[in-house]
Amino acid sequence: MIDLTITEALKKLNSREISATELTRAHLDRIEKYGAELNCYITTTPERALSDAAAADARYAAGNPLPLDGIPIGMKDLFATRNIRTTAASHMLENFIPQYESTVSQKFIDAGTVLLGKTNLDEFAMGTFSKTSYFGAPINPWQLERKLTAGGSSGGTTSAVASGLAMGGTGTDTGGSIRFPASITGLVGMKPTYGLCSRWGCVAFASSLDTPGPVARTVDDAALLLSAMAGHDPKDSTSADAGFHAHTPLSPILGDGKKLRIGVIKEFSNVEISPDMKRIFDARIADLKSLGADIIEVSIPNILDALAAYYIIAPAEASSNLARYDGMRYGLRVDGADLIDTYKKTRAAGFGTEVQRRIIIGTAVLSSESYEVYFMQAARVRRLIADAFDRAFEQCDLIVCPAGAGTALPLDSDLSPLEYYALDLFTVAMNLAGIPACSVPAGLAENGLPLGVQTVGRKFDDMRVMQLAKHIEQFAGVDNRPTKIMGK
Ligand code: GLN
Repeated sequence: MIDLTITEALKKLNSREISATELTRAHLDRIEKYGAELNCYITTTPERALSDAAAADARYAAGNPLPLDGIPIGMKDLFATRNIRTTAASHMLENFIPQYESTVSQKFIDAGTVLLGKTNLDEFAMGTFSKTSYFGAPINPWQLERKLTAGGSSGGTTSAVASGLAMGGTGTDTGGSIRFPASITGLVGMKPTYGLCSRWGCVAFASSLDTPGPVARTVDDAALLLSAMAGHDPKDSTSADAGFHAHTPLSPILGDGKKLRIGVIKEFSNVEISPDMKRIFDARIADLKSLGADIIEVSIPNILDALAAYYIIAPAEASSNLARYDGMRYGLRVDGADLIDTYKKTRAAGFGTEVQRRIIIGTAVLSSESYEVYFMQAARVRRLIADAFDRAFEQCDLIVCPAGAGTALPLDSDLSPLEYYALDLFTVAMNLAGIPACSVPAGLAENGLPLGVQTVGRKFDDMRVMQLAKHIEQFAGVDNRPTKIMGK
């Protein structure tokens, strides 16, 4: 039952071949078996899961099921869940129990999903390997004994979905945190257009970049999850007045004489990537060509400056967003001699090294001496990149590019902060521009590990981004069934 896709499971649930309770129990059993080893959940919610499943079964029995009724999912522990601990993987929020439900998690409740638990992540979603988590890093189920990273920051979700400890889940993507982990765990990770999914109740990192989105094993499954989570929300002032409604299976947009101009980013062709990624990327481009796509080179002149701009803008916004953790209203409090001392002690104890680094960088670039030279300059680069994408999409309909340079690295790789930041090279530009991008399994490297490529589109072209990803998925044919990946 663990290997079923969401699409397949919904069929079996609808035909009453399986029950939501059986499906949920199968996942809870597997969490029991492998959850501790994979460390993909910070909090599991088995009782809630079983009661969600019973409610779903009742709706199936009554003949009025909800769109995702009975589908067990994992929720990134950045989305506030009423009466369920929500930690953002930080000591600061270790014991925080929200009184309210985030819009995205509420929408999953409204769609009938079963909540298995809250998945692990980098502290406040700052990181690339999920190693900055206060609860330790989740592990990639591929070649388990090697203890590879499942990526970050949504690494708990990718670890859980790839291992069959959830059928799908949520992530958030501020600079690549859905797409990078998906690419190295053989999953589909969709960063929708900024504003398509509400940020309300999602612990803030960098508000102008934060984008909730789905992680799943197939593009169709990801489209179903996105259909549930997208939609306008008056509680989020940047929420777009747009929805996403997928009818699966998604229909092909290539073949049968359908024409599409696909852009390849010129500036990325000079970036060093692994020979595996090069081979796989070229093969998938050739496949798309064979279906009748015109491959066009497009230029995003400042795209290689995206990293520098991102690592100014994101910390700047983070330093402002994280100012609220002062020990006064909620979260950790370490009493000091006076108010200032209490602030200092609370924040020194509550935040990990990487979060502190970002707060310091962010505060520095927003200071009056640095604002013009760093923050404003980064904002200008951001505008140039967004404009260049607009121009590129006058020449092509969609863009395809790598999701990362190579396969999953061991968790104990000793990388410097700058080396971690450099891993976001292929993903941050889409966040700066607010455009949709989907990482899809594109092939296996020589070492047997999966690699993803991204499909990228104009704002609100999320559907076509996923339709193109589906063509790549079909050509690549990566077998990502959990029992195949883990051999058990
Ligand atoms: N790796 C990036 C960072 O650390 C992206 C994180 C994210 O998308 N949440 O900022």
